[in-house]
Amino acid sequence: MTGELSAASPTLPRVEEIRPETAASTATAELPEAAELPAAAEKVWSLSPSRAADFLTCPLLYRFRVVDRLPEAPSQAMARGTLVHAVLERLFDEPAAGRNPQAAAALIAPEWDRLVAAEPELAELFADPAEHAAWLEQAGAMIDRYFTLEDPTRLEPAHRELHVQAELASGLRLRGYIDRLDVSAQGDVRIVDYKTGTAPRADFEARALFQMRFYALVLWRTSGTVPRLLQLMYLGNGEIVRYAPDEADLLATERKIEALWRAIERARAAGDWRPRPSKLCDWCAHQALCPSFGGTPPPLPSADELSRLDMPAAAGPEDSARADSALAMDKDYAI
Ligand code: SF4
Repeated sequence: MTGELSAASPTLPRVEEIRPETAASTATAELPEAAELPAAAEKVWSLSPSRAADFLTCPLLYRFRVVDRLPEAPSQAMARGTLVHAVLERLFDEPAAGRNPQAAAALIAPEWDRLVAAEPELAELFADPAEHAAWLEQAGAMIDRYFTLEDPTRLEPAHRELHVQAELASGLRLRGYIDRLDVSAQGDVRIVDYKTGTAPRADFEARALFQMRFYALVLWRTSGTVPRLLQLMYLGNGEIVRYAPDEADLLATERKIEALWRAIERARAAGDWRPRPSKLCDWCAHQALCPSFGGTPPPLPSADELSRLDMPAAAGPEDSARADSALAMDKDYAI
């Protein structure tokens, strides 16, 4: 089942337990009936792992993306990630026995066509057909690599591209999309995330695991069940990072997210969104507006405009001490 919570997953929240973020978020599959939607005026601040990571990376980057909502042109790397995720999601539409590299390769062209139809500027990312062909080959190599990491014929995901959200006691709403959720016969939950980069150095790995803890916290707060395993699959170099969280982890994650949110609120109240230059500036789409690169940010939106904004989320560094101990759990999710 794609994008909604299955009644067949006993440890997961029922559909009606997940409430929409705003009346505008009608694209999410788990929306309740219109009568249950809150009025637009009741908009609740929310945070996603990506936006939390933005603030931790650079408060000004967060401002550009969340407050100013500046558009960003797609890149080849972003498009490749989207395509690979789409193919791996669709792969599980196939009967289990047919989930092989050939079936996945056959999905690349139609999924790319679908993405371009939805976002025509993607077609302009390539200087010529040869560049496009080379890019498709890279995407195909990542998809082939996926098959070296696990056997999809022995898996039956409970959910793919699952939209999740939960409200903390403070009123902060957390939200995000989980690439894949597996539920074992015993009811154990595994959160799976595909990464189209290479496995990160330790500090970046900690950040990636924070994202996974974020999702685990949301599931725990909505279902009462701590996911047994968090699994990051790096399709760029064929590595897997696994971690088994516990309640103490998730409580610590909750405290970090609340503290991060207070920092975001302070920045918003003060209008103080400082640039924090780092190596990541090389990938920033907003260098031309950044004071660290001689630019000038646009005027901040008015208080009235800000009051109508919805504020998404981000992540922070963690350790991965129990990652190895989780390796033996793979077999539990096989069918
Ligand atoms: S260029 Fe660097 S410092 Fe400036 S906004 Fe982007 S990430 Fe922040």
